[in-house]
Amino acid sequence: MAVVTHELEKIHNSYERLQLKTLVPCNCETCKNLTTPHSYSLDSLKERLNARRYQIECDKSYEMVDIHRLIDDVMFQPVRADGEMNPQVAQLQNELERKRDESLTHRLRNSNQQEKLIINSQSVMEFEKEIFISYAWGGESEQFVNQLDQTLQAKGIKIIRDKRDLSYKGLIKAFMERIGRGKCALAIISDKYLKSPNCMFELVQIAKNGQFYDRIFPIVLADAQIYKPVARLKYIKHWEEKIKELDEAMREVGAANLQGFREKIDQYTEIRKMIAELTNLLTDMNTLTPDIHSKSEFEELLNAIAQRLDE
Ligand SMILES: [Zn+2]
Repeated sequence: MAVVTHELEKIHNSYERLQLKTLVPCNCETCKNLTTPHSYSLDSLKERLNARRYQIECDKSYEMVDIHRLIDDVMFQPVRADGEMNPQVAQLQNELERKRDESLTHRLRNSNQQEKLIINSQSVMEFEKEIFISYAWGGESEQFVNQLDQTLQAKGIKIIRDKRDLSYKGLIKAFMERIGRGKCALAIISDKYLKSPNCMFELVQIAKNGQFYDRIFPIVLADAQIYKPVARLKYIKHWEEKIKELDEAMREVGAANLQGFREKIDQYTEIRKMIAELTNLLTDMNTLTPDIHSKSEFEELLNAIAQRLDE
């Protein structure tokens, strides 16, 4: 659980000069297990993002940490098992919301100037022009997304990335549903993506909201075996096994308090129902290889997106 500290620095004994410094806890592998993880000042993280630095080195592990994720970890901190919001996290979330509002007001005041968004969650209000990206964390998929993200940001286009690998709880689910409604969503399809409940939930959301063909911009990575029917069947089997596994596990416990599990089974079942159709649609689409995309600096993709956003 994240530990968030608010440091009050008293200067010259004056209440007016009290400074509130918001610290964001590190989420690297080393810090995750520490009771006092390394922490970063929110302001300095934001400055880094403004300067288009997307990573920062942890002082404890010397690992490079993704800044969007540090902030997302706090923004999308799920509720604790006992249903109570961690008060410290709630406080930091308020702080982030407040900063976001300030920034939005600021942007409205300077509406002539094209001001860049500082953190991705700020764009919540800009439904229409949002470009969402749905991808599985780690490996080639994430490297590709980082590259895409940087190229697009350099051209002044923001994309909305969200947090993966989290259990389904309020905010996360709402966020995923929002991706589903977005006018335009990039999907980086990999083997991991097709097996991930969170990723597939997003894909199903995109499909359920209609106009799948117009709204989705798929990029199919080499390890996603969607072009061979036999390999595609393996994904169907994967989801059938997941449903079976969960179903059997549920039978072993009492019938009460299974709400979260039932919801999951329903989600898996929905994915199972749609995966054949969705992967089939994806194979029909004219998707470029990741190599061609990055070599051309995503030119073709950008043109297609621009066209879609102007519709
Ligand atoms: Zn760390």
